[in-house]
Amino acid sequence: MNKLRQIFLVILLGLSTAASANKEIIRILAIGNSFSEDAIENNLYELAAADGIKTIIANMYIGGCSLERHLDNARGNKGAYRYRKLGLDGIRKQTDHMTLERAIKDEKWDYISLQQASGLSGRYDTYTPFLPALVAYVRKLAPKGCKIVWHQTWSYSIDSTHGSFKDYNNDQMQMYYAIMDCSERAARDNRLSMVVPSGTAIQNARTTFIGDNMNRDGYHLDLSYGRYTAACTWYEAIFHRSVVGNNYAPKGLHRDIVFAVQKSAHEAVNHPYEITDLSYIKSNDILYRNPSIPTEIRITDLISRMSLKEKILQLNQYTLGTNNIENNKGDEVKNIPAEIGSLIYFPTDPKLRNQMQRHAIEDSRLGIPILFGYDCIHGFRTIFPIPLAQACSWNTSLVEQSCRVAAQECRMSGVDWTFSPMVDVSRDPRWGRVAECYGEDPYANGVFGQAAIRGYQGKKLSDSVSIAACLKHYVGYGASEAGRDYVYTEISRQSLWDTYLVPFEKGVKSGAASIMSSFNNISGIPSSANQYTLTEVLRNKWGFRGPVVSDWGAIEQLINQNMARDLKDAGQLALNAGVDIDMMSHSYDKYLEELITEKKVSMETLDEAVRRILRIKFQLGLFEHPYTPDSTPSDRFLRANSIETARQMSAESMVLLKNNSSTLPLHKGMKILVTGPIANATHDLLGCWWGHGVDNDIERLNESIQKEFGPDSEVRYLKGCDFDGDDATHFQEVEKLSRWADVVVMCMGEKGSWSGENNSHAYIGLPDIQRSLIKRVKSVAKKLVLVLANGRPMTITEEAEMADAIIEMWQPGLYGGSTVAGILSGRINPSGHLAMTFPRSQGQIPIYYGRRNSARRHQGFYKDLPSDALYDFGHGLSYTSFSYGNPTISKKEVRSGDKFTVTIPVTNTGERDGMETVFWYVSDPYGSVTRPDKELRHFEKKLIRKGETSEFQFNVNVDSDLCFVDSEGKRLLEPGEMTIIVGDKQIVINIIK
Ligand code: BGC
Repeated sequence: MNKLRQIFLVILLGLSTAASANKEIIRILAIGNSFSEDAIENNLYELAAADGIKTIIANMYIGGCSLERHLDNARGNKGAYRYRKLGLDGIRKQTDHMTLERAIKDEKWDYISLQQASGLSGRYDTYTPFLPALVAYVRKLAPKGCKIVWHQTWSYSIDSTHGSFKDYNNDQMQMYYAIMDCSERAARDNRLSMVVPSGTAIQNARTTFIGDNMNRDGYHLDLSYGRYTAACTWYEAIFHRSVVGNNYAPKGLHRDIVFAVQKSAHEAVNHPYEITDLSYIKSNDILYRNPSIPTEIRITDLISRMSLKEKILQLNQYTLGTNNIENNKGDEVKNIPAEIGSLIYFPTDPKLRNQMQRHAIEDSRLGIPILFGYDCIHGFRTIFPIPLAQACSWNTSLVEQSCRVAAQECRMSGVDWTFSPMVDVSRDPRWGRVAECYGEDPYANGVFGQAAIRGYQGKKLSDSVSIAACLKHYVGYGASEAGRDYVYTEISRQSLWDTYLVPFEKGVKSGAASIMSSFNNISGIPSSANQYTLTEVLRNKWGFRGPVVSDWGAIEQLINQNMARDLKDAGQLALNAGVDIDMMSHSYDKYLEELITEKKVSMETLDEAVRRILRIKFQLGLFEHPYTPDSTPSDRFLRANSIETARQMSAESMVLLKNNSSTLPLHKGMKILVTGPIANATHDLLGCWWGHGVDNDIERLNESIQKEFGPDSEVRYLKGCDFDGDDATHFQEVEKLSRWADVVVMCMGEKGSWSGENNSHAYIGLPDIQRSLIKRVKSVAKKLVLVLANGRPMTITEEAEMADAIIEMWQPGLYGGSTVAGILSGRINPSGHLAMTFPRSQGQIPIYYGRRNSARRHQGFYKDLPSDALYDFGHGLSYTSFSYGNPTISKKEVRSGDKFTVTIPVTNTGERDGMETVFWYVSDPYGSVTRPDKELRHFEKKLIRKGETSEFQFNVNVDSDLCFVDSEGKRLLEPGEMTIIVGDKQIVINIIK
């Protein structure tokens, strides 16, 4: 500190001693924002009370309020503040719409503090035009003797994603020194009585064992010790008593932390503009083992104790148990090291897990628990319809409940982490993995993904029935060229932002615990080595703090993709780009030590990756409860409410594609022939990733239909044909019974193994043998109902012509049989709508609803085929009918910051109750970036009783619902007209500046 500074400091301290703790009551008002809220609203009152000092403490709050805005509020006498006052009785009273004048006159304040908005607080050019006038204003109104003080804010944590951090080159120290310089000048230039050095106190605390864990979101203070540090600083600055030894500390705060922060505050008040190195303050406790210590400090402590080898092992994932995943066969890993970070766990009970966990806890130096993951994609033992079918329910709370069931079954079986939800937007049904996603729309994938995350993760990851979710596959995997798996994807930055990143951003915002990097190569840079998507976007823009796990072997596959020279090079590329956990490539365990020694990967990068995997383990409560409690299979699986949820999901996910002349529902007393390879199928109804589904639990269609129609009807079953091959020996029998029957229910489709991973099909129609049988039946049947079980949209143009009615049942999991039977009989009124377009032919692919418009809208069609889809996105029939009334809108001219509502009455005009899904689209006729013809922005499903009308509402937030992104993800809202489309109605709104 230079001489001048020292003299100035002495004067400041001298000036401020007048209003000391000797006074009866000290009254403090902060004119600030959330930073003053953090600093004075929570602990200062109690710190003072512990020393017998009575205080009245108030904060004038507007989030992120700058000096400029404070001055503007002062000049306009605006009632813009939330005023919170802690009275002598310690009770907080809140007054909204407070003006500065009223607050300043509210009490005989001894101190009034001012501060700059955090991001601006190191930029003096944002002080000079406003601070002098603001100080003059406060001086004029403040009571005599009141001291105006400057509140120093604190610099952000090193990984902060706050937009203003880049003004300081994302450098904590640069920000800190800039704030120091400004606060010193602010106090001197405006003759303020003192500076409360909260910023320095935080910086001091960062040198102790607490480390860089003072902020809760990168810039606001941690709720307990962070806020306490700032309050201690105020205490010592205002009351001129050493805070060290003060008896008050927030409940449960470890004594070593209390000491560290009190000392940090004390040193800051004595040296307000320079950091005191307090690194000698260590804790004698093993902090990471102590559940009362805040997680980030536990992690810091644990990392400081880990050897290089121990750190590296945390970043690897092997398998445990016998692998039931087809595409990832490999030898069972023997002799798993006790220090391993994570395992994919295949058994259905926790026995082996607990054994392995005991090995980790008892046979390793630090006893770090292992994280057990598994692909629970649409259920663990209670198997639900495939995700693509779930999306067709358009019922997000049902998706949430289904994932809740899956989470409970997983966690009780020893699985802490699922590699789900998959939110890959895909417009190519040749790609087998469309079965695993929520269809073709980015928004739909986003909101269903969020529902799944809520379901899996519950209220707290540490609950005994919650698991960590993993958003996958990051990113653009669904754009696989020509629908082939694992291949190149051509994705422009614009499409990356407006299509593929959309659901991931939503998932990250709703707290997904982890992310999986994908296999695909994104326009030249494979996802698992992609610095832009993994670090610039995911970490720097979105602030994601969970671990990124590679897909199975994806790191090694960087060699096949011609990115990496060898496995070592691959590991270097992946970790430096942002892949924290190596799933089964054995690159990190083999080569990371060398890479660190050769300085090709930095220790900081390694530590950060280790921090992320440890964080998820702490969040899951594994350090406290590493073992899964014993339970019986019936405790865990197929509970009554789980079955109920799965049945409901089957009912809502099936889509009635066609129903000519009200063929369905069928009548009791009819003669029904049930035929086709799906009719007696079990396993094939589970689809891909069937978890631990058991074939015996699966309802067969033929049996369910028999049961549904009972003795009044005559139901016969004939297999007819296989899924494929050319065995037509039973055709004649089928033809004969088809003549007899009033209706033939043909249950056709795909084997369960035809979709999912590594199941690309160039031909997506029904196999010839099934098509021939349909033709044969058509030639004689009175009525033909087609029931389809499949994992992707199929090209069924000819069959659709022949069928009188079509039920798309998808791969429904356990309870498809009774659901289809219920739809056939009319017990269930179908309510599903397609989440993915059905093409007429493979030649149309990609075909999807959200296309950008053509230069010649009247030309350019196929010459040999209609250019439209067979069944559009959103298509789905019901046994009742709905009519949409006139929409009303609360505002026709809107601008940024506005919110408005559009409402539409929908009437059930048919003869039975039914559920309707209302889809709200927006359409933007012109803009600096062209937009798809229409884009889904909201949907809602409701039951409407027959004859009744129900109102549906879209609460539009102009900034999120009407804007769009450019190729760098910047949100743009452009003036002009925009149309909201709902059913057959449209409303035009005007966006103004
Ligand atoms: C799949 C992932 C899956 C992983 C682990 C990969 O082959 O692409 O979706 O989570 O295997 O089984």
